[in-house]
Amino acid sequence: MRKNGKRLQVLPHKLLHHLEALSSWKKGEYFPPVQVELGATYRSNQRCRWCYTAYLRERKHLELDRAVFMKIMEDLGSAGIASVCLQGCGEPFMNPHSVEAIVTGKASGLDMAVITNGVLFTEDKAVECLPHLSWMRFSALEADAKMYAYAHGCSEAQYRRLLRNIHAATRLKNTIGHPELVLSTMMFRTPYLCEVEVTPSALPQPLLPGVHTRDACPCRDTVLELC
Ligand code: SF4
Repeated sequence: MRKNGKRLQVLPHKLLHHLEALSSWKKGEYFPPVQVELGATYRSNQRCRWCYTAYLRERKHLELDRAVFMKIMEDLGSAGIASVCLQGCGEPFMNPHSVEAIVTGKASGLDMAVITNGVLFTEDKAVECLPHLSWMRFSALEADAKMYAYAHGCSEAQYRRLLRNIHAATRLKNTIGHPELVLSTMMFRTPYLCEVEVTPSALPQPLLPGVHTRDACPCRDTVLELC
């Protein structure tokens, strides 16, 4: 696909891993969704300049309460859903029950994933969550403290916290021996507005001292160019 004369490479889909669902769809039969994206909260700890869900913060009920959240995870597991990703609407870890929901989801037979800005994903949360996650993505719009603070509408300290958390999660992933867990980050690099998916370990080393590069991420060959 081409956009503005430039080649646009989109992420490869995984449809061929789900031939049964594909076949049911072709025959017009019922099949459970392969993946569910679940917004656990409308709240966020940041004010990103182009947040597309900012208007949701005005809602009266801001997040799933614990009982409903856990019931959803159990029900999705028994309904035959393959995977659930906590993402969108707000920052998943603003909901105090997201960690427990990840553990409950995994115990219910779901492959669990989360997309987060990572600032609240402290080491204690990583210890609880990582063994139950199949992948997680840290969203970061900039790879520079000042620009990050501008783009995310937050303090530069949040950027430093994010780096500490990525560092801790990466270290932990190796410690607990969970090699199939994919940790990745996406960064928009102004002025080109290029979105590049990399392993945290592939970030410039001065950003993450002590994190070693390892070509473990199957997404390394997938670069989404928006320029
Ligand atoms: S972290 Fe996500 S939900 Fe929060 S303001 Fe930024 S884009 Fe919106």
